[in-house]
Amino acid sequence: MKKLSTVLLVIIACVLAAQSQSALPPAAQKAMNSIDAEKIRATVKYLADDSLMGRGTGQKGGDMAADWIAAQFKSYGLLPAGDEGTYFQEVNFYGITTDPAQTRFAFVPKSGPEIVLKFADDFMAMDQTHAQKSEIDAPIVFVGYGINAPEYKWDDYKGVDLKGKVLLMLVNEPPSDDMSFFKGRALTYYGRWTYKYEEAARRGAVGVMLVHKTEMASYGWEVVRNSWGGESSILRDDRDPKLKSAGWIQLEAARKLAQAAGMDLNNLLRDANSPTFKPVELPVRLKETIVSRVRPFASRNVVGKVKGSDAQAQQQAIMYTAHYDHLGIHANESGDNIYNGAADNATGCGILLELARVFAAAGEKPKRSVIFAAVTAEEQGLLGSKYLGQHPPVPAQNISLDLNYDDVQPLGEPQQLVVTGAERTSVYPLVEKVAKEFSLAIQPDDHPEAGHYYRSDHFSLARVGVPAFSVNEGALFKGHDLAWGEEKQRDYVAHRYHQPSDEYRADMDFSADAKLAKFGLVLGWEAANQADLAGWQTGDEFEKARKGQ
Ligand SMILES: [Zn+2]
Repeated sequence: MKKLSTVLLVIIACVLAAQSQSALPPAAQKAMNSIDAEKIRATVKYLADDSLMGRGTGQKGGDMAADWIAAQFKSYGLLPAGDEGTYFQEVNFYGITTDPAQTRFAFVPKSGPEIVLKFADDFMAMDQTHAQKSEIDAPIVFVGYGINAPEYKWDDYKGVDLKGKVLLMLVNEPPSDDMSFFKGRALTYYGRWTYKYEEAARRGAVGVMLVHKTEMASYGWEVVRNSWGGESSILRDDRDPKLKSAGWIQLEAARKLAQAAGMDLNNLLRDANSPTFKPVELPVRLKETIVSRVRPFASRNVVGKVKGSDAQAQQQAIMYTAHYDHLGIHANESGDNIYNGAADNATGCGILLELARVFAAAGEKPKRSVIFAAVTAEEQGLLGSKYLGQHPPVPAQNISLDLNYDDVQPLGEPQQLVVTGAERTSVYPLVEKVAKEFSLAIQPDDHPEAGHYYRSDHFSLARVGVPAFSVNEGALFKGHDLAWGEEKQRDYVAHRYHQPSDEYRADMDFSADAKLAKFGLVLGWEAANQADLAGWQTGDEFEKARKGQ
């Protein structure tokens, strides 16, 4: 008996030892150890310099950054993975500005006087078709939340034909605390306004009016007005169908519209919360003339590759992404008007370049290939990465994982890891294992209702099915308490985020960025060697895309 238990103990000890032993090959270990915080600093210092003029998309500084990143890729010995044997993927855009003076927007009821709305005060609208002038004269249909989500057994459309119509809908998603229903309080992609426009366009609608209700949108009308009042950018070669009028209306305008239709807005809002809701056609048409200034411009993604070591698996890849663009120069602002974007996102570029350098230098490569993409136009709405997702260097089904880096604050050695969305992928057990090896505690998302997952470049890869998430730090740093880190984050958001003051400073401590680069290297290397390609959990909103459905 005693002997048997000894044998058992030995077996258990062996199994435990095998589990805790890292699968990391010596070449990877060496690559990881050569990651250098000071090289990340040098990249941030260069990209955030005033001479790069804030790296605006379609501006000279953005082009300079792209050229410089490509030169780094070349110096490391990365293979070009862009257009026609270059490191560049050309991305074409239209900048669109609605002309308030010539745009007219009116509700025309079957009986009674028409109601003319005022641009910026009552409504905002943008023509996604990049026409200089579009005319709409179409019936308005209220479609509730405008969501079709089979996995939650929710369909606001109920098969109603909406071709040529204008859809009135609510932002967000049906309220719930039940995690199995639209992930409870967390915002899923169905709640984002981008989804709503896309779904309406797929159904052949010509326009969308989102009803703005502050407590539902989680931001005021001024935010809608400010972010929609200037130029918006769209991809020229976007495969998704487009709306002639993608817009918002103020709650009070929606109330007037309901009144003109002989209906009560509160009842409509209430009915939208029922799964048996059906689209309601109002006896009111939208008559709109939308006039736009259209400015074509181009920018580039920078894409390089390290070929995998396995003859078969090298057709597949893992990917690292970071956006290099920022807000450029705001010529009409006085004083310092260069938006340097040191933290956002020269830091991510510093990490991306350091990963590229050490992967390329490694004496032995992982089985799958490794793609490095510095993307443009993140600040315009994730457009560079959207183009990358639609035109990946290898088919999206063959990309096992995308790790994205965006705004990794150089605050010293992090003790916490934020990898929101990772838990939805089959890579998660590996993420947990590697996090443990780095003594990084995985932090849950503090504000799942804000939908952060849909606001950085990894999302562009997720929507074409690639398991993807961003790697960032929490608020706890070595030698400090949590309050210190939280105060640093608050200070950044209040005083530097998307402001000219997001500049390089000599006292920045890039050990944060180096640690997360090392974490990403180990995770990526192991993912590149895993037997099976990664996927999404059953029932996840991105599972369909992964399966090519
Ligand atoms: Zn960013």
